[in-house]
Amino acid sequence: MSEFFNQVSRRKFIVTAGVSASAVLLKGCLGNPPETGGNSPTSAVQPVANISPEQKPETTKVKLGYIPIVESAPLIIALEKGFFTKHGMSDVELSKQASWGSARDNVEIGSAGGGIDGGQWQMPMPHLITEGKITKGNKPIPMYVLAQLVTHGNAIAIANKHLGKGISLKLDAAKPLFAQLKSSTPFTAAFTFPHVNQDLWIRYWLSASGIDPDGDVKLLTVPAAQTVANMKTGTMDAFSTGDPWPFRLVNDKIGFMAALTAEIWKNHPEEYFAMRGDWVDQHPKATKALLKGIMEAQQWLDNFDNRKEAAEILAVKKYFGLSSPTVLADPFQGKYDMGDGRKIDDKSMAAYYWKDAKGSVSYPYQSHDLWFITENVRWGFLPQDYITNGAAKAKELIKKVNREDIWKEAAKELGIPAADIPTNTSRGVEEFFDGVKFDPEKPEEYLKSLKIKKVSV
Ligand code: CA
Repeated sequence: MSEFFNQVSRRKFIVTAGVSASAVLLKGCLGNPPETGGNSPTSAVQPVANISPEQKPETTKVKLGYIPIVESAPLIIALEKGFFTKHGMSDVELSKQASWGSARDNVEIGSAGGGIDGGQWQMPMPHLITEGKITKGNKPIPMYVLAQLVTHGNAIAIANKHLGKGISLKLDAAKPLFAQLKSSTPFTAAFTFPHVNQDLWIRYWLSASGIDPDGDVKLLTVPAAQTVANMKTGTMDAFSTGDPWPFRLVNDKIGFMAALTAEIWKNHPEEYFAMRGDWVDQHPKATKALLKGIMEAQQWLDNFDNRKEAAEILAVKKYFGLSSPTVLADPFQGKYDMGDGRKIDDKSMAAYYWKDAKGSVSYPYQSHDLWFITENVRWGFLPQDYITNGAAKAKELIKKVNREDIWKEAAKELGIPAADIPTNTSRGVEEFFDGVKFDPEKPEEYLKSLKIKKVSV
């Protein structure tokens, strides 16, 4: 079947694809220009793939939530560069979420109820929602993890009043400060949602240096976009979230970065693309079409030549609302002015979307889900029985939630070379900056090896 592509204007184009005998007006790509108008450098639009009837999505419409941090880039780029439309998803609506709590509330009701069908998630939010641990009335809402969005791109930022007091990746020199603060106003650190990535990064970082996150400091929840403002008021000593917020703090000269998450755990799992299970079950082809669009966006993002343009697309008011794309452009190249005299200029420390030194970033390794669940057990957020008995309960949950099988099907349909499709659901033993190792075959041994924890193993 023949297909052709004809861009009529920046905001409107007509396309006839092999999927339909009639011409259809597609929106979702250039149909949703940034509100700042004319600010987006988007120009190249992908031609619509010649979609076979077997792969034609059941719907063109979906509503996905995102938070304005680099983790959301594959969703925004897939929309803006036409990768969703290319695979038949011409009505993708991206909905900026005010907080992770709002994202959770919105996925509970689904798009039919004015919410969202899925989107960007910290881990293990999809598992906690599936189990009804963080939903209203503890109602279980099955969710599927479909891809990892990114590795790296997150940091722990500290208020400038603590400059020169030994707060860095390792905290040995800062222990007297933490002890002194504990007896008056404890060191206060914020994350963006409890029990997930940022909470876990702060906890790992503190406890690796012998500081008990439950006894020696105060931890609280603040939405990502409010973190800079809250630190300006001086009520917060530290926070952890995704770029560009930690680097903005340095740029605005109100804070510095103690550690990049890339320093805590090189090539670590970060945030994920997950959807309501019922949406995926009803729209298996549309799910794969979304995945194919995201995979193409991830590959586009990993081309460093595209990153200046990526920063410009993300910076606009509609998405991140940055005064300048430069606060994104430098971290995107692995260049971090840590704000305490330390400068990192190392591409291996940058955010990666498709592939990193350890292999696939996009593929959702089940062994990483297990680390997030094990860490929840460590801090008493989940009962110990998830990990005992060979972690049978955790593994059963992961098998239900992590749909790496769908990722693989989509990758094959997209023509991803076999070498880039992992054959094992485990990435193997992981190592942290303090030398601690996580063997996914022995999560209980990992918990035993940790000095600070709230679980007795
Ligand atoms: Ca994050």
